[in-house]
Amino acid sequence: SIEIRDVARRFGSTAALEGVSLTVARGEFVALLGPSGSGKTTLLRILAGLEGTDSGTVRVDGEDMTGVPARERRIGVVFQQYALFRHMTVFENVAFGLRVRKRRPPEAEIARRVRELLALVQIPELERRYPDQVSGGQRQRVALARALAIEPRLLLLDEPFGALDALVRKDVRRWVRGLHDRLGISTILVTHDQEEAMEMADRVAVMERGRIVQCDTAEVLLRDPATPFVAGFLGEAS
Ligand code: ATP
Repeated sequence: SIEIRDVARRFGSTAALEGVSLTVARGEFVALLGPSGSGKTTLLRILAGLEGTDSGTVRVDGEDMTGVPARERRIGVVFQQYALFRHMTVFENVAFGLRVRKRRPPEAEIARRVRELLALVQIPELERRYPDQVSGGQRQRVALARALAIEPRLLLLDEPFGALDALVRKDVRRWVRGLHDRLGISTILVTHDQEEAMEMADRVAVMERGRIVQCDTAEVLLRDPATPFVAGFLGEAS
């Protein structure tokens, strides 16, 4: 499980996060939902080890992550723009996820794992292409395969559907959720799209100005919003 306890982070005079606590059970899918500037990305970067905290703790399976470098956390991230390496093939992008591991597998094993992962995300035929030579949806699958290559204890998805065509977005959401159910990896999705959060997540953590104001199932959030902000934000249906 992932335990976030009382995390705070300031940037100058801006409190990006204040007293944030959240527990994500093993295999659970939680969405961080909130308007621009509410602190979603900062929390995700802290979990990934790309950003420090001023106070509070993050534990993964009981292990305190303070001071643990990003590459040793076994936390997979799919960034908004996927952040693929443009000069590397699809194969090499996914292999990268395995090569950065502490105990780097032998080359034959890497090749076998990369092909397995590309089959899992359903693009086995694209291994020799470069990121520029595949579609946006396919790039996202490459990013997902790279994140899964580290056998993550936690998967972080930062607005992963924003760059996709509205028509395919719904299918892709369903597919990603299905993959999650199959693999059982704890997942945190960052989004400002309430429909997406409600449709995909077991629980939705609504953020406002650096705080989690409510974390519940979609059903409870809609029936019993904790504050007028939650009610108003969820009311803004697309
Ligand atoms: P968005 O949906 O627009 O990505 P967000 O909810 O992810 O927004 P954050 O990016 O976490 O919000 O930002 C939270 C607050 O912290 C904002 O006020 C932002 O301006 C500020 N902030 C974030 N990163 C930095 C930084 N590196 N330096 C200064 N201020 C920052």
